Amino acid sequence: MKKSTYIWQNGSLVNWDDAKVHVLTHALHYGTAVFEGIRAYHTDKGAAIFRAKEHFDRLEDSAKLIYMKTPYTSDELITATKHLIKENKLNSCYIRPTLFFGYGVMGLNPSPNPIETMIAAWEWGSYLGEDGLKNGIRCKMSSYTRIDSRTMPPLAKTSANYLNSGLAKQEALRCGYDEAILLNSNGFIAEGPGENLFVIKDKVVYATRAEDSALRGITADSAKTIAKNLGYELREKSFIRDEILTADELFFTGTAAEITPIREIDGIQIGNGSRGPITEHIQNTFFDVVTGKNPSYSHWLTLV
Ligand code: PMP
Repeated sequence: MKKSTYIWQNGSLVNWDDAKVHVLTHALHYGTAVFEGIRAYHTDKGAAIFRAKEHFDRLEDSAKLIYMKTPYTSDELITATKHLIKENKLNSCYIRPTLFFGYGVMGLNPSPNPIETMIAAWEWGSYLGEDGLKNGIRCKMSSYTRIDSRTMPPLAKTSANYLNSGLAKQEALRCGYDEAILLNSNGFIAEGPGENLFVIKDKVVYATRAEDSALRGITADSAKTIAKNLGYELREKSFIRDEILTADELFFTGTAAEITPIREIDGIQIGNGSRGPITEHIQNTFFDVVTGKNPSYSHWLTLV
């Protein structure tokens, strides 16, 4: 990973290599952390954070779902993030804020421990590759089931959840695929390890639903708004595997993955086997929006 100069830790900037924790940090042992993944893009007015408020509000919701009281407000963390990006002189970056239960006492109740806050920002290119953005990626239906709210909080970005995602990702890579798609415990399509799934059939754009144990993706929300504004019919529903295999087009959305077409699942070609026309339309608009080239969406950008 490309190091930046500073990391924001508990209210001040520290040198990247000095941002450390104790080995008995509660979150390291029990996964008691919540985090966000955010991007800032280069615009002609400088770096702009995409949908900052929505991301930091989701961080608060994630904290609530693991019974953690946040020591900072969303607005305070946005101010800190802007400061961090400026001091690191970044034009575009990935931003990782994390709140975690720190070092104090061991045991499953984290509440006696201090809550630590950090924000890191660094340059990060496309998560699933430039070729993936253009020509689509190959996915594997995972043998892992996506967590559901009877076991873990799927609407929270809590570190513990990401063992489920990480196992699915590793299995897909080991089998020669780029990414996984997980079913939920009811057998419906949930999402990718770090992406929401969109389905296009007969010119209708379909999104999955939180009830299917999919994270409420901010990129997904953006793609839905863009699709509607471009005049596509938008619906939300649950999907069985058969419906995604016979889709005309499929794409993933995510802060890291942005808008990435899917061209194959388990050796079966999806649609024309490349990026479909509606996916391309939404994707091109998305990249114009995040880089400030479409003024109708400037309210989604927070200039640094
Ligand atoms: N699902 C999961 C499990 C994720 O980790 C992410 C990435 N945050 C997403 C979906 C996509 O969410 P967003 O578009 O808000 O990044």
